[in-house]
Amino acid sequence: MEFNSLIDRITKRTWTDLLIKKYIGLFNSSWLLYAKDEITRNHAASGGVITAILKYMLETGKIDGALVLISSVNGNNVNCDYQIITDPDELPKAQGSKYFTTNFTHDAVPLIEAFEGNLALVLLPCDTWVINRLRKNNPKLNQKIKLTIALFCGHISDPALTQLVIKKNKPAGKSLTDFRYRAGHWRGKMHFSYEDDIHNEKPFSVFSDYQNLYFYCARKCLRCNDHTGYDCDLSIGDVWLMAMKNNPIKHNAVIARTTFANDLIVQALSENILEGKPVSIETIADAQSRSLPLHYNVSARSKAGKLLGIKIADTVNEKVRLVDLLIAFVILFNYKLSNTAKGRKLIARTPKKIIKLYLYFLKALEIL
Ligand code: SF4
Repeated sequence: MEFNSLIDRITKRTWTDLLIKKYIGLFNSSWLLYAKDEITRNHAASGGVITAILKYMLETGKIDGALVLISSVNGNNVNCDYQIITDPDELPKAQGSKYFTTNFTHDAVPLIEAFEGNLALVLLPCDTWVINRLRKNNPKLNQKIKLTIALFCGHISDPALTQLVIKKNKPAGKSLTDFRYRAGHWRGKMHFSYEDDIHNEKPFSVFSDYQNLYFYCARKCLRCNDHTGYDCDLSIGDVWLMAMKNNPIKHNAVIARTTFANDLIVQALSENILEGKPVSIETIADAQSRSLPLHYNVSARSKAGKLLGIKIADTVNEKVRLVDLLIAFVILFNYKLSNTAKGRKLIARTPKKIIKLYLYFLKALEIL
């Protein structure tokens, strides 16, 4: 047996129907897919499925616009803004993950409300809660939203984390001109461009080591149990199966929750827009096996929060083992540390090797 497959076997969990319902919710079908077009894939953080679907919907008149989040650089700072794209050729500028807090209600909802025509929305699971509430009371708004795509989401980070990573990696005296969080195979690379046509690539771990330790985590994520977007049409995310690590083509894990979304996937496959195969929902759960239980267990964070003076309402009443409590304590401790000036200094000065060791410790707890 191949080494990577062996690791999958060792870390494999047993997914009962009850666990699938809790962690993933209701679904129609589940898939491992990628965009057939290589250029679309090469620009993507994963398999390029979201861009391929939006392009297909725009080109076939199923929608008139797609709400996406676009990052830009201004004076060594990264910003992320919502935009509604109507020209399929402009979709590549929205590709790639963004680990950055935004204000969906303030910045995206007015764009959606003002748009004349049919829309697909690319959202975080928590954005789906907002838009679904509005749709209930607004038939016109409800009518124009043809598809909601929720991204699998562990948590997002305060923009200060992005700034820290930029500062740590920027050559002295050069201004940042372009930035991408993640592109390329497996975990991917971070891309930095500077004036004088200087381009730099760093392993994504220069960012994710901090992010996975929950330094600079957004406050709202501490009380969130929705990893895949229970109430959207399509949920799309990464495939972290060791057996896929050596696959030259990166895939997306895709969950179709509605008949419309399932039919759309089937059409896109038959029209050579997408490539891939249906898989069991357990395979999708395996692809996110560490994150799903961790994200769902608000109860552990609620209990650990009491020890650290952070109030978190327990919305799930989940069983909390000692190890869950320890993980939640580390997460909240790190969250709290990065919310103080002294803590931020300490995080910035801590050698990378120590940060890495700390992350290995947390990851080891997470697979117990
Ligand atoms: S973890 Fe939850 S609250 Fe945080 S960004 Fe993701 S979906 Fe939103």
